[in-house]
Amino acid sequence: MKSRVPHLLLGLLLAGAVGVLVAGFLAAERKETEVVPRDRGALTDLAVYLAGELRMLDELYTSHLKELAGETSLREDFAIKKRCEEIVGIAQFSILSRAPDGRRDRHLKVRDWTEPRAPAPSFSESDRLGAEVIRLSPVSAYLDGLDESGWIDEPGKPLMYWARRSPNEIVVLLVNRAEVAAAITGWLREYEGEAFETVAVGGGPDVFRAGNGDTLFEVAEAETGKGVRPDLLLPLRTRYGDWHLESWDRRVTTVRYDQRVISGTWLLALLLALTGVALFRHQRSVLKRAAQQVSFVNRVSHELRTPLTNIILNTDLVSEALSEKALAGGGVGRRLSLVREECRRLNRLIANVLSFSGREQNRNVPLSLETIDPVEVCDRVLESFGAVLERKGLVVKRHYQTAKHCRGSADSLAQILANLVSNVEKYAVSGGVLEVAVTGSEERVSIQVSDAGPGIPRAAEKKVFTAFYRVDKGVTEGVSGTGLGLAIARDLAEDMGGGLYLLPSQKGARFEVSLPEAPGNVIDLRENLAS
Ligand code: ADP
Repeated sequence: MKSRVPHLLLGLLLAGAVGVLVAGFLAAERKETEVVPRDRGALTDLAVYLAGELRMLDELYTSHLKELAGETSLREDFAIKKRCEEIVGIAQFSILSRAPDGRRDRHLKVRDWTEPRAPAPSFSESDRLGAEVIRLSPVSAYLDGLDESGWIDEPGKPLMYWARRSPNEIVVLLVNRAEVAAAITGWLREYEGEAFETVAVGGGPDVFRAGNGDTLFEVAEAETGKGVRPDLLLPLRTRYGDWHLESWDRRVTTVRYDQRVISGTWLLALLLALTGVALFRHQRSVLKRAAQQVSFVNRVSHELRTPLTNIILNTDLVSEALSEKALAGGGVGRRLSLVREECRRLNRLIANVLSFSGREQNRNVPLSLETIDPVEVCDRVLESFGAVLERKGLVVKRHYQTAKHCRGSADSLAQILANLVSNVEKYAVSGGVLEVAVTGSEERVSIQVSDAGPGIPRAAEKKVFTAFYRVDKGVTEGVSGTGLGLAIARDLAEDMGGGLYLLPSQKGARFEVSLPEAPGNVIDLRENLAS
């Protein structure tokens, strides 16, 4: 059998080397991000330009409000509301009067006010210095008597524009900052895209953003800026809201590797790979040597087999030629019988060695399976052991309880049984009984060989089927053996689709050969007790 162990080990160690390399490179990796400053001339120019545009928009809006506040012809609520709606962001139109007959302030709601209550501006009493005060709870604005119009703009407070119509009449317009800011954002989006393109030429990342976070324009690569604070922030502030130009420097990430870690990694990987190769070569040579030895043993066994067959044949012929009288006479017959037994023992040993070496070299000829009569094979094997068993004082008991035939190879079954009976003869003499039972169960035929000898210790139950294993005990002392018999027997049984098992037993050892039943079997019970 060709061993894959060297290849597996080599593959494992090479894979380990690759793994070490990958892990080493990962561990040695150092990422360094360098910030490369950019020329921002175009961006600052754009900021100046946009600030001018926003100022111009503010002036334009203010002029609209002033014009509206000055339109004295507007008296009817309906007309005032309609006119106010034409201008974005006006939430309330108030006319504050200081009349001798008391106050006649009017507040006209134009659009929804986001806060629960729109502030109601009102004149307060003039203070000592003659300044007028408009109270817009909670804001107080001081107007100089000479002022004509202006903004009341305090951070976090409602935004208002006032304009004087006459010394005692002032119009106050409540302005919704967010609405005006949204209108400005829309306007910027529509008209300033081209201006932003000048920045795009210089590359990014740059973003023009409204105060609420909405992006108006951005130069590609602005992605890089995500999550990193801008390196330059140019705020554009108006009373309605803020806009920002955000800009980032370029970030160049370079990957470096720690040379010490890399060197260590290479060294370790190389060591692993070299160890793998060395182990591979060593194991290959060991296996080669073992194969050579097996092949040598195989050749020798083959060489032995032919003369041995001749010896067996000739001893058989001699024993046939000698007269019964001569054989019964004692000395010659007994010696001849001993020669035949030893020859057979040698023959079994050679058969086992050849089976084993054939397996090792993967040269086993596939078995040709046929229908065989297990009882006939048992008888044949017991017959061949007849003289030796008798001499050892072993009583043979046969329990043939089935006439079922099984599927297998008669030679292989004979080899298995010979190995089992030979073990009884070698190890279980003290028990004095050898029982062979053939039984049939569902689709199986079982042949049990049991003895009443010392048996097999529990710890060795599995190991006895391993090649070259022999129980290290008094049992094997002085008894020759190779430790191959049971291993070969189990392999042969498995080759036939069956198995060889060691069964639990009160006394001695009990082995079972199980083989598949031959198709078309007839069950016929018979009990043949013979000794
Ligand atoms: P071998 O007989 O050449 O040593 P086997 O593979 O046939 O090799 O048997 C392996 C071992 O199992 C034997 O060495 C022996 O210790 C034990 N063994 C096998 N059969 C018996 C048995 N019937 N009684 C006691 N021990 C046995």
